[in-house]
Amino acid sequence: MKTLGPRFTAISVVESLNSSPWTIEHRCTQCGAPINLGETDRFFVCPFCRVQMCLTTTDYFRYYLPAPDTAVPGIFYMPYWRIKGMAFSCDGDYEVRQSLLDATHRASDHPFFPESLGLRPQTLKLRFATAETGADFVKPSMAFDAAFSEIQEGLPLYTRADQPTSPFYRTFIGEKASLVYAPFYIRKDVVFDAILDEPLRSTRLAGDFSLSRETVDRAVKVLPALCPDCGADLEGGRESIGFFCTNCNSCWYLTGDKLERIPFFIMPGTNGDSAHLPFWCIKARFQGIVLESFADLVKLANLPRVIKKEWESRPLFFWVPAFKVNAGLLLRISRTVTINQPRNTAEAGASPALPYPITFPVHEAAESIKVIIATLMTMKKKLWPILKDVSIFPVESRLAYIPLKRQGHDLIHSPLQLSVSVNSLKYGEHL
Ligand SMILES: [Zn+2]
Ligand SMILES: [Zn+2]
Repeated sequence: MKTLGPRFTAISVVESLNSSPWTIEHRCTQCGAPINLGETDRFFVCPFCRVQMCLTTTDYFRYYLPAPDTAVPGIFYMPYWRIKGMAFSCDGDYEVRQSLLDATHRASDHPFFPESLGLRPQTLKLRFATAETGADFVKPSMAFDAAFSEIQEGLPLYTRADQPTSPFYRTFIGEKASLVYAPFYIRKDVVFDAILDEPLRSTRLAGDFSLSRETVDRAVKVLPALCPDCGADLEGGRESIGFFCTNCNSCWYLTGDKLERIPFFIMPGTNGDSAHLPFWCIKARFQGIVLESFADLVKLANLPRVIKKEWESRPLFFWVPAFKVNAGLLLRISRTVTINQPRNTAEAGASPALPYPITFPVHEAAESIKVIIATLMTMKKKLWPILKDVSIFPVESRLAYIPLKRQGHDLIHSPLQLSVSVNSLKYGEHL
């Protein structure tokens, strides 16, 4: 979890320069055919040999922007951190504000190079940075956290007249950072941008200029998207990080270098359910707040219910979507399902009718628990000031499928009072 520094008071920020999706040029590892991937794609089927694959990495994905003219001698590739995700702020006026953060920042402290990648990536295609490219990649000399602080400092500040105090709590829940390498070369002590083929302004190099090279050996890992148990094709969407095998009724989660079997359960539904939405059902241990049982939640959220004796020993689970939705919807859905605390009663041997792709990682779901709690608290004036001292340690997480029925433009689950607009789901067109 990333806690934002004090200067981050942006209400809604998209670094507009990089807001359009990037395309990655890839080659099928089976037949060599060219395949264009989206930046967030983790699962694809080769249109030529039909083999289906998934992509993963042990640390972060590394891409590069190939120089248009690779014949220019001395081209080297400078690293940039890429960050994309949701920022939440529990503000001084007792409102939770969400914003989207989408930015790049130099992963080196060399002032000669531009601070961010700016507009260029929109018109160019990325490729995976691997040792086989033979390109000269420069080792990052600025840690992600340092670059991240500088990104925050560079954000425009929105000061609100009606907001007398600084936010109580801020957090960033993001997709893992990636590295993007951009090409440069040096002629007569002047750094040239190898994409624009233009010299950078005010960049005459000082004498002791040196860069250490990186061996890109922890490259992207391409795995066959087949059930490790029975060999059947796994089912998923383009951005899936978890897959379902309908042949042997098993669920597989993409880790750094393999597919790992994860337990799942399905909430009982009725005939004719349109879809099963995946949720991370997370139990956590808390420090700084008492929130172990369902009874604790009822008190915290001041739910209009009479606390039953058994609720005091009933463990509390946070229900967070295991699929990507916008920040506001993530909070609303998590809140609704968590308040209702569905029973973890599994239907033995059941399989989801139409398993919706798992695209939101469990660790990000766990990171969002604190802001979910912040929205649940009724006595915000009393409780928000303690948020910064609350520590959350996830102890157990399970994947749960909730059956929903299609009604007009919505998917609904009446007992949970849950309703999700199909248009708000990225892969909703198939439901
Ligand atoms: Zn192929
Ligand atoms: Zn299988």
